[in-house]
Amino acid sequence: MPLSASKDWKASAQALRYPTQAFINGTFVLAVSGKTFPTISPIDSQPLVEIADCGKADVDIAVTCARAAFVDGRWSDLEPAQRKAIMLSFAELIRANADELALLVTLEMGKPIDDSLGIEIRATANCFAWYAEAIDKVYDEIAPTGPNTHATITREAMGVVAAVVPWNFPLIMAAWKVAPALAMGNSVILKPSEETSLSALRLAEIGHEAGIPTGVFNVITGKGPESGEALGRHMDVDGLFFTGSTRVGKFYMEYAAQSNLKRIGLELGGKSPNIILSCYRDTEHAARTSANSAFFNQGEMCTCPSRLIVEESIYDEVLQVLADQAKTFVPTHPLTSGANMGALVSEAHANRVGEFVEIAKSEGARLVCGGAQVRVDGQGSYFPPTIFADVTNDMRIAQEEVFGPVLVVIKVKDADEAIQVANATCFGLASAVWTDDLSVAHKVSRSIRAGLVYVNCYDCDDMTTPFGGFKESGFGRDKSLHALDKYCELKTTWMKV
Ligand code: NAD
Repeated sequence: MPLSASKDWKASAQALRYPTQAFINGTFVLAVSGKTFPTISPIDSQPLVEIADCGKADVDIAVTCARAAFVDGRWSDLEPAQRKAIMLSFAELIRANADELALLVTLEMGKPIDDSLGIEIRATANCFAWYAEAIDKVYDEIAPTGPNTHATITREAMGVVAAVVPWNFPLIMAAWKVAPALAMGNSVILKPSEETSLSALRLAEIGHEAGIPTGVFNVITGKGPESGEALGRHMDVDGLFFTGSTRVGKFYMEYAAQSNLKRIGLELGGKSPNIILSCYRDTEHAARTSANSAFFNQGEMCTCPSRLIVEESIYDEVLQVLADQAKTFVPTHPLTSGANMGALVSEAHANRVGEFVEIAKSEGARLVCGGAQVRVDGQGSYFPPTIFADVTNDMRIAQEEVFGPVLVVIKVKDADEAIQVANATCFGLASAVWTDDLSVAHKVSRSIRAGLVYVNCYDCDDMTTPFGGFKESGFGRDKSLHALDKYCELKTTWMKV
């Protein structure tokens, strides 16, 4: 459906067809129980559609189908170049259906349509294309064992892989797991967030249209503690790869430990420190970029630089620039072209963000701007950019993940104190430092315990580099060739010759 020709996104939304059922074995199916739950659009808090509320029985069926597909080799036994061709077609079909997918993402999750189209869908297609291109260029190994024996070290697909993902980048988070898992030859079961099932279901349908064989890419909808837990505890799922909160990530370790010890990968939360030092030549640029990164995607980003650590000599100047830049983010109906801030994912989430604002105030933090939920056209769950000054690192607002457009600014006396504050957190996902001193850049980037460090930038990104955290931000890495290792077993074969 070539929707962008008109650019009247609201009218295009009226013409959308919503997938509503789970996608198992190449077809849409109702939940065995017949139960459904609503997808509510945060744009106006109105229900969009009822979705299949899957549970253990549906998971059992999906796993059986995925296992059968894996065992008969319809995908796992294809030559890598054959899988590559189908995955490249998949990427092309995602691009061809970009407007429809972007609309689904915006309607269910609330982000601006320009971001859905220009970031979410583009990155999703690129991810499938990247792993497609990679998979026939990855070689296995022969061990240096001497003339009378021959030992190969080969990567083999794991089998049935489950991917459980959140709602903030519903398709990108799915693609980062589904694409490398499929490229390796696995059968995959994707469990999207209950907030964002629509785009995931359409993605699976598009994959099927592109030639991914029946049973190889399935989507189970439903609630986390039901369909998610059933996948986590299933005895015939070989690996489960999760992106979401640290709280729920810990559940998945328990599910694995109490079932078949399936391999687990966890991409979890963050409270990323972003350090601006006076030795950076352009304080204004650093502060403006930091605000843009903090409020992008309504602040609903695991890598959100939500903990800004600023050297005292430039603290007031930084605060002023942040406050000015915050004014450029205006909560707007996300189907408006040019909008840079849409709705938070749900009313419940907006309320949670509001609770954090009250906690910060009660802890003594100073509210610089924002701080209260707003409506657009009298409806929906929107929250404006919110900045707190005079924050100390022991406050809850400095330690807990808000996952909304709330930025806290902490004053430090020098780079050494900045490093100490940056590391005083249970998380270790992303981080940044702004400095023109090469030695300081090296020292800070080596000292910060985080999986990602940005120097004089924030959110540089492409498929070539690994993504993931230290500490309670999880383990295992998405993206890059390193991610392929998560989705395979390593086999040693000795031959006497
Ligand atoms: P969440 O942890 O609440 O949910 C994530 C997934 O887990 C969903 O599919 C949900 O249905 C499922 N789930 C929820 N409760 C469950 C349970 N009891 N048992 C089994 N499954 C359950 O997270 P969210 O609110 O969807 O997303 C926000 C979180 O995701 C934030 O903490 C954010 O930092 C994190 N995140 C991390 C990354 C990363 O790469 N590190 C990327 C994006 C988001």
